Amino acid sequence: MDIIENFKKVNNNIANAIEKGNKGNKVSLIAVTKNHTIEEISNIVNQNHFLLGENRVQELLEKYDSLPEEVQWHLIGHLQKNKVKYITDKVKLIHSLDSYGLAKEINKRMKPLEKPMDCLVQVNIAEEESKFGLKIAETIPFIEEVSHLPFVRIKGLMTMAPYVENPEEVRPVFKEAYNIFQQVKEKNIPNVNMDTLSMGMTNDYQIAIEEGATIVRVGSAIFGPRSYN
Ligand SMILES: *Cc1c(COP(=O)(O)O)cnc(C)c1O
Repeated sequence: MDIIENFKKVNNNIANAIEKGNKGNKVSLIAVTKNHTIEEISNIVNQNHFLLGENRVQELLEKYDSLPEEVQWHLIGHLQKNKVKYITDKVKLIHSLDSYGLAKEINKRMKPLEKPMDCLVQVNIAEEESKFGLKIAETIPFIEEVSHLPFVRIKGLMTMAPYVENPEEVRPVFKEAYNIFQQVKEKNIPNVNMDTLSMGMTNDYQIAIEEGATIVRVGSAIFGPRSYN
């Protein structure tokens, strides 16, 4: 398995999906490093790829010191309130804001740093029991509520589509996410800056890009299969 080769292929696929026709936005690739070693990750960091994503705080902290400081870490998995304090100065974007309690904790922990944390609101479009995230109907009221917290800055939405054999089947999920994203944007809520739509993983990132993703989160297509998760 050649990680650099995989990485180039994913970048090509992203360019092709944009060319095929997306919503006209730029697309960033977050390389998802969970369950992979520093040695494996270094392959792409050495290609000057610095956008990395982890879904657990513990694993992010373990890797943080072993990688160059140019790396921009994205926390993409469910975040427990008691872990917020460990990442306030280490994370560029939290993709998984999913409760007001968590927003309040982030606000409290960012205040001493005198700057807001950029966050995406996780929306469970397909309303799967097994996944975190707000229901569609809760999303706008939630964002309005969080917008009053000065040290939390909402930048957009994140969603995970259900796993299916044929990614075409989840196109409606991405379309719906884009719709809500646009609706929130048009509301022009103060302190909310809707410029990021994080959706698409190994199985479905090309479709997500066609439907307006600005960030795709890709792990296995770059680093190979994981032994868990
Ligand atoms: C693991 C993970 C990914 C990447 O999954 P792949 O299918 O390996 O690309 C993306 N987003 C989240 C939230 C994840 O936990």
